[in-house]
Amino acid sequence: MTPRHAIVARRTVRAAVVLAMATLAGCASAPRVAPQRSPIAHWTPSPNYNARKAQIIVLHHTSIGKATEALRVLSTRNSEGQVSAHYLVESDGRIDQLVDDGDRAWHAGASRWGDMTDLNSSSIGIEIDNDGESPFTDAQIQALIRLLADLTSRLGIPRQAVVGHGDIAPGRKTDPSAQFPWATLARYGFGLWPDAVLVPAPPGFDSLAALRLVGYDVSTPRTAIAAFHRHYRAMETDTLDATDAAILYSLQRKLMAPRQ
Ligand SMILES: [Zn+2]
Repeated sequence: MTPRHAIVARRTVRAAVVLAMATLAGCASAPRVAPQRSPIAHWTPSPNYNARKAQIIVLHHTSIGKATEALRVLSTRNSEGQVSAHYLVESDGRIDQLVDDGDRAWHAGASRWGDMTDLNSSSIGIEIDNDGESPFTDAQIQALIRLLADLTSRLGIPRQAVVGHGDIAPGRKTDPSAQFPWATLARYGFGLWPDAVLVPAPPGFDSLAALRLVGYDVSTPRTAIAAFHRHYRAMETDTLDATDAAILYSLQRKLMAPRQ
């Protein structure tokens, strides 16, 4: 096989794999195929372009609590609406991938985090098999941590950039539930987490501004505070107190610290 034929063969195999994944996901996005170039132009490639690149990871719980049913919903054009995620982590730790990392899955819906307003376009979505009330299993949290290590190193996503669906859609979504062990993820270096020993916020500290700096959409403060509480304090009340200010002061200092 000549080098040119080998390249064509590789492209054909790659296109077939992408097509198969798109079919599996029940996803309507067009499969990436061989380069599309005009026959009347000279191909003079520029390095200055981007493929779609994920910048953040969004965690969900399925609310179904039965992996086979979740897998069916996420991988078919079903009557419950067309939804998908890149990954499903089952209760025994099995990890299913449903959408290519380079493709846009449909898991976030209307959402906002910092300056990002179309999270489906900028994130990897991970569904965790859980009914929203039961604790998450050790096996699936360990599998999730392995998956986060893989994704952050392979795709260059910052380890801090791991959030919940409830964080990016306050007032609309509440997953993963308050049972989700964010502190465990933080011990492995994933997600933004405060110092173990909190110091009181200084007088005049603006908790709402800090909440916005973390990423929350504070246009409706009550729902943003409830989302923050679910994530950082495993409760869902909607007024800020001194402990919140101390947590937010710690998070703010981490975000504003010079990068190593
Ligand atoms: Zn969700």
